[in-house]
Amino acid sequence: MNQGPAKRYHHIIMTTLSELNTCDEAAFVATLHGIYEHSPWIPQRAAAQRPFATIAALKLALQAAVTNATVDEQLGLIRAHPELAGKAAIAGELTQESTSEQAKSGLNQCSAEEYATLHKLNADYNAKFGFPFILAVKGPTGEGLTRDAIIATFTRRLKNQRADEMAECLRQIHRIAEIRLNVLLDVQLEFGPAIMQWAEVIGAWSDADDGLTCSYMTPAHQRTAGQLMEWMREAGMEAHIDAVGNVVGRYLSDRADARTLLIGSHYDTVRDGGKYDGRLGILLPLAIVRHLHARGERLPFHLEVIGFAEEEGVRFKSTFLGSNAITGQFDMTLLDAVDADGVTMRDALAGAGHDVDAIAAIARNPADLLGFVEVHIEQGPVLLEHGLALGVVTAIAGSSRYLVELTGLASHAGTTPMNMRKDAGAAAAEIVLMVEQRCGQGASLVGTVGQLEVPNGSVNVIPGHCKLSLDIRAADDAVRLAAVKDVLDSIAAICARRQVEASLKQVVSASAAPCAPWMMDQLGAAVERSGLPRFDLPSGAGHDAMAMAKVTDVAMLFTRCGNGGISHNRLETMTADDADIAARVLLDFFRSFHQPM
Ligand SMILES: [Zn+2]
Repeated sequence: MNQGPAKRYHHIIMTTLSELNTCDEAAFVATLHGIYEHSPWIPQRAAAQRPFATIAALKLALQAAVTNATVDEQLGLIRAHPELAGKAAIAGELTQESTSEQAKSGLNQCSAEEYATLHKLNADYNAKFGFPFILAVKGPTGEGLTRDAIIATFTRRLKNQRADEMAECLRQIHRIAEIRLNVLLDVQLEFGPAIMQWAEVIGAWSDADDGLTCSYMTPAHQRTAGQLMEWMREAGMEAHIDAVGNVVGRYLSDRADARTLLIGSHYDTVRDGGKYDGRLGILLPLAIVRHLHARGERLPFHLEVIGFAEEEGVRFKSTFLGSNAITGQFDMTLLDAVDADGVTMRDALAGAGHDVDAIAAIARNPADLLGFVEVHIEQGPVLLEHGLALGVVTAIAGSSRYLVELTGLASHAGTTPMNMRKDAGAAAAEIVLMVEQRCGQGASLVGTVGQLEVPNGSVNVIPGHCKLSLDIRAADDAVRLAAVKDVLDSIAAICARRQVEASLKQVVSASAAPCAPWMMDQLGAAVERSGLPRFDLPSGAGHDAMAMAKVTDVAMLFTRCGNGGISHNRLETMTADDADIAARVLLDFFRSFHQPM
């Protein structure tokens, strides 16, 4: 960006990062005074860390000033914000920034009914939490939330606990600041808006009337595949849909001896899922290739973008259909699997025009591959809580799952003394707490009893029978297996002591897929060059990279998941800014990609 005097544009003074880095502290604070509402102490505290290498680093320093502030200072910052469509807004007493943000969402055009709703929400919220509701009304894309979306969010967040809600308000304030900084510094997002827009387009194509459901080989699924292929071609790739429905786009290198770097994720979804789960990992490299193609820039390797047809296992209860075909591990007996309507996978594929005899030929030759990279929304709260847009995945956790049945003795709740009982329910309760306690002892170790039932239980009968599930995961197989052993031993001990019989059935045993350290290092270095710290975390959820790890080195880049980290849900959300920095980091990673010595 040019250096030069601050210029007036759309009533906002614009400046440059180098001006902010070199001006005196008073000018720095004065220029940034409108970024955080009525809180000059924030730029004051960040000023000492100049110079900032990138705008991302500046944003992070401002956020850190808030994070490191006292709770009273944080509350002061929240309370410095006006109510949405509140009295101050109606009276025209807001800052210039707030006025234009609220107007962009049409909050100045509320109907009488909407004003009444917002007025009551404001009052209830303030009474419950003691601070005003904060929402970045420009939303994830910066284009503005609708009034309906604002009211729905307000209503939902009113049910939160106070500490969670205070943290959410601060995150919304950082989002507001990010959007204001973009205007001040005239930041043009190169990739993020297109990625968000594409996700919106295919996110509207669903098997269901309401919400996004895109399961294997349905009309919505086929339409999505066709659209992805079209976008890939428009972006400058050779693209086709293979025999299991994977959408494959190749951006060829001009080097004769080039090998192939694979990148991608899945485009099927769970029932009523999110718009970014899986799809982000296809659309993001698509945006990058479009950019490279427009510049006439080639990479020293072939880049192959794959939209995997199936990962979630919704329709045929079998996961990783797409990536297993790429690795040559597609299980042909699955073609006889039937969906809920009795349709076989074979017929579903034939109906979509696919030739099942061509599936075996999809398998890639590992010798041609440099590795596989997957970008995926985190589907958890870790990056969100750390205030970071990106994380480098260390490993995809392995998992062990069991179904446990406990058999005691059903007897009368009134007549059976406490010391003469064989209570399967009480044994189950003890097991739940034991799993929680044992799995709390390891960095990436997690353990969950997600299903727990007393079949045919009655108020006045001691549970004679109880069923529960057990799910234990860790990034390190030795850690997981040690925990599993301890948990199974403890179940045996608990049941022996209570004279309850336990029968266990293992239903899943999947090894962890560690990411390749050399690829993690190159991704991490690209993250650092963007101005963000490298932050490593394990993936507790399964991903296509897990299947790909059987034939090539893999790496994953996680992006921050908004709304408390919720995914597999229509509330899943992310921002155009996060998509943009993820794309810039990935482009940088491609440009500096090199194989280990
Ligand atoms: Zn996914």
